[in-house]
Amino acid sequence: MPEKKQNLSKNNPSSFELDLAKEIKKRGPLTVAEYMEKAVSHYYASKDPFGENGDFITAPEISQMFGEMIGAWFVDVWLQMGQPQNVQLIELGPGRGTLMADIMRTMSAWPELKEAVTIHLVEQSPQLRQAQAQALKAYKPTWHDRIEDVPQGFSFIVANEFFDALPIHQFKKSKGEWKERGIGFDDVQNEFIFTFMDPTIDIPSIMPASFLAANEGSIFEISPASLSVFEQLCKRISDNTGAGLIVDYGHSVPGLGDTLQSIARHKYSDVLEAPGTKDITAHVDFSLLKAVGDSLVDIHGPVTQGEFLASLGIGARAEALTEQATPEQRKDIMTALHRLTSVKEMGMLFKVLGLVSNGSDIVPAGFSDDQSHDED
Ligand code: SAH
Repeated sequence: MPEKKQNLSKNNPSSFELDLAKEIKKRGPLTVAEYMEKAVSHYYASKDPFGENGDFITAPEISQMFGEMIGAWFVDVWLQMGQPQNVQLIELGPGRGTLMADIMRTMSAWPELKEAVTIHLVEQSPQLRQAQAQALKAYKPTWHDRIEDVPQGFSFIVANEFFDALPIHQFKKSKGEWKERGIGFDDVQNEFIFTFMDPTIDIPSIMPASFLAANEGSIFEISPASLSVFEQLCKRISDNTGAGLIVDYGHSVPGLGDTLQSIARHKYSDVLEAPGTKDITAHVDFSLLKAVGDSLVDIHGPVTQGEFLASLGIGARAEALTEQATPEQRKDIMTALHRLTSVKEMGMLFKVLGLVSNGSDIVPAGFSDDQSHDED
């Protein structure tokens, strides 16, 4: 039985939407992961979603201070690692290129590091590649479809709000049994619907045993795509030495619940309505990422974004910036600081995971107490 319905954009369905409906009618339901993957890649390939006039705003787009703190983190690790002379700086899902530009500006205060760096961007969207080329033309970046395609070598890897865009599978407890959730199409009502389908993953092998007996209606999510990219990334750091910073929103301990969400024009929107015209994301399960990478690299955190940025000195940086600022600019800087660090805004839900090669004795900045936070 369908549990939830949402009309196709009846007045003006896109050809993408019509093709998706046709595919489902022909093949049967898609997994939530297939639906998400198709909708998200179409969305990023067809528009620039960022900023006040777009659909959502990310930390680097809020303020240069975010990228400066990330840049400072890598400078510190580079110094601790004995200033290696060839550094591949890799970003996954670089959006408009703003974070990388801020990192490079910060690194430029260390000319030897600036000289040592080559930039590698892992981006699928042709439109965003163009925006990145514009923002980073001084640094001559190279683009890749997948992290596996980046040449081997000492690597610094950064990803902000990348893993939340990777597809998840959903499972729901219904009539006493765990079932995979799929996306179907209701021909009569002309709308996408949630439905159930034969499981594409062996459920007991991926679910923590304590969840097997969960209440009726519970939802369990897993993102094999995220785990696979994260494993690649850890393997690269382990094989070549290096470090990484993953920033995303999500939870530090395994949990049940439906976190699939869509945001359009800065408001929550139905994930089944007008796929391909808006972003679809899900919470990142940091505990699973850690489990996958633990044997390959030293993993620090996750710590909350608020704590991380505070310990990197974002407060002092904001003060310094306000010194030459007009009252108007001063207000903007303090508002940005609040948005990035306040527990009510991005400070708590967003978390930071630090990775450094095994056995390197590095104490990376920002993770000194190294406690996981279980608030959500
Ligand atoms: N890091 C940026 C953008 C976050 S949005 C910022 O903080 O502003 C997600 C980014 O990941 C976009 O650049 C999107 O095109 C890219 N992306 C999403 N799925 C991807 C995939 N499977 N492979 C490569 N890039 C992907």
